[in-house]
Amino acid sequence: MKVGVLALQGDVREHIYALQTCGTEPITVRRVDELNSIDALVIPGGESTTMALLAETFGLFKPIQKRIESRLPVYGSCAGMILLANRVLDATEDQRTFGGLDITVRRNAFGRQVDSFESDLEFQGLRASMRAVFIRAPWVEEVGPEVEVLAAVNFHGTDHPVAVRQGNLLATSFHPELTQDYRIHRYFLEEVCRVGSRIG
Ligand code: GLN
Repeated sequence: MKVGVLALQGDVREHIYALQTCGTEPITVRRVDELNSIDALVIPGGESTTMALLAETFGLFKPIQKRIESRLPVYGSCAGMILLANRVLDATEDQRTFGGLDITVRRNAFGRQVDSFESDLEFQGLRASMRAVFIRAPWVEEVGPEVEVLAAVNFHGTDHPVAVRQGNLLATSFHPELTQDYRIHRYFLEEVCRVGSRIG
């Protein structure tokens, strides 16, 4: 299986390293022919507005949407989650996303005072807890009926989903690529990609 990391902006290198540690030989994706050669895609953390604009500039925006529609397994972390969401709150004017995930995300949801923090989470897909790093992270405000919530964070007394899955699409508000714990990458490769390629 050939895995690509969208390499327009953001923490590409960290995802490449995480995927290598999981035993794959990932490639960077900046061109349509690279996109067409992969069986799974990771969209890194960074800045969702910039990544969307660069995807447009590089002629990748529509081709990525098409591949998502044809059930390419995709994992998005943080800005990657925003880019996979069908609906975005606190978006910039004209902000576009690839979409595919039937969720509403709120950008920079945790506010300025705690714009970066770490938290221990129970991750349902792994039935285990993990340390999660949040950096100006979104949270998920609404999920459609086909979306499974895999982890949530309690903020001021309310639980907010921060990891979700819908079939071939996986997204986390946090950054497992910035820790030494690559269980989410493994979960993507072993569980999500398997289902994605079986259906697709
Ligand atoms: N706040 C960023 C955005 O809106 C996401 C931050 C991140 O990826 N660490 O795209």
